[in-house]
Amino acid sequence: MNRVLLVFLAVLFTPAGKSEDVSGWFKGNTHTHSLWSDGNDFPEMIVDWYHRHGYDFIALSDHDILAEGEKMLPVAQIKARQRAIGHGAIPKCEARFGEDWIQRKMVNDKEVIVLKTLEEYRGKFEEPGKFYIMKAEEISNNSKSGPVHINALNLINVLPSIKDKTVDTREVMRRTLRAVAEEAEKTGKPVIAHLNHPNFQWAITAEDLAAVAEEKFFEVYNGHPGINHLGKEGVPGDEKIWDIANTIRLGEMNAHPLLGVASDDSHTYHGGDVSPGRGWIMVGAEKLHGDEIVEAMQIGKFYASSGVTLTSLDYTDSDRTLSFEINAEYGAEYTTQFIGTRKGATKDVEIGEVFATVSGTTASCKVPQDALYMRATITSSKPHTNPSYPGQRKQAWLQPVGWREN
Ligand SMILES: [Zn+2]
Ligand SMILES: [Zn+2]
Repeated sequence: MNRVLLVFLAVLFTPAGKSEDVSGWFKGNTHTHSLWSDGNDFPEMIVDWYHRHGYDFIALSDHDILAEGEKMLPVAQIKARQRAIGHGAIPKCEARFGEDWIQRKMVNDKEVIVLKTLEEYRGKFEEPGKFYIMKAEEISNNSKSGPVHINALNLINVLPSIKDKTVDTREVMRRTLRAVAEEAEKTGKPVIAHLNHPNFQWAITAEDLAAVAEEKFFEVYNGHPGINHLGKEGVPGDEKIWDIANTIRLGEMNAHPLLGVASDDSHTYHGGDVSPGRGWIMVGAEKLHGDEIVEAMQIGKFYASSGVTLTSLDYTDSDRTLSFEINAEYGAEYTTQFIGTRKGATKDVEIGEVFATVSGTTASCKVPQDALYMRATITSSKPHTNPSYPGQRKQAWLQPVGWREN
């Protein structure tokens, strides 16, 4: 029997209302920095951290570089880096991988360390179906309004960034997304670009994110404490940015909505405050591999988390009902807000309106008839174990639904 027919029959015979078991979805972080750019630990030590902490995949996304070719760092320069050598990065790495693992050289009378490439260390961690390392880059553009950082996942080639403070922000976004699309075409592999931390240096507005409709993904949560996740007086936080952008896209542009990613953007691994483990995605990929992970993300089969995960998740266009069950933590209470915007909404309070608030470990809500879309944010009563802002609690963000029929 062919595959299409099998899928068709599976759909036909799935009882109505039966939720998809998502407990086996893959956990991964798509935004991480190492000594290859401005992180303060060796890439293999960082991958080791994620491997030991229950992640299924990790993308090291250093600024404007892929971990290939020869990259040498003077020991003195590493020492100068906040908390790196001083906190034992070299002895820790030697203790983990052996005395002769780190390659040192003398160059012009200076001691340098040759960083390991991805190909040199990936074999120590990767196992089919168990752990995967995705090739990625944070394309770190600078534009008229400030940093326009876009992560490209599942790359083969390094893509150039634009460092030109005379170029308009939206133009910088568009050019980068064009380069990403060309890379996918050239390599025949799916590539995803997610726009990072829009409020970092207040560089990117919700209107920018709406206007550049080629951008389908953005970070609704980034664990770097300096990225202004909550916004400020007169500037919306990341969640509100999501609602404003999607209201414009769906209400005025007939464009695809933005899907939300959560990530670490970790830089410091020796007690610093830009540490790993704060935000990630759960992806329903058919296989633990770059192409399949990206393909699942492209069809919206993933959600963002900073500590709340699900056991089941269901939405069908026919009954327009989003329902799920939370993988409950002992002693935690959960509150879900179903959020969206109705057609014709104009006032600020009508953008990202709370349609319903539900307590408990299961929740369900029908998309209102006049809604452009609906999404869900789940918040635990438990504090985040490693907060990036005061008072942070564990959360999950589900992708917008109910917009395809509009
Ligand atoms: Zn960045
Ligand atoms: Zn970053």
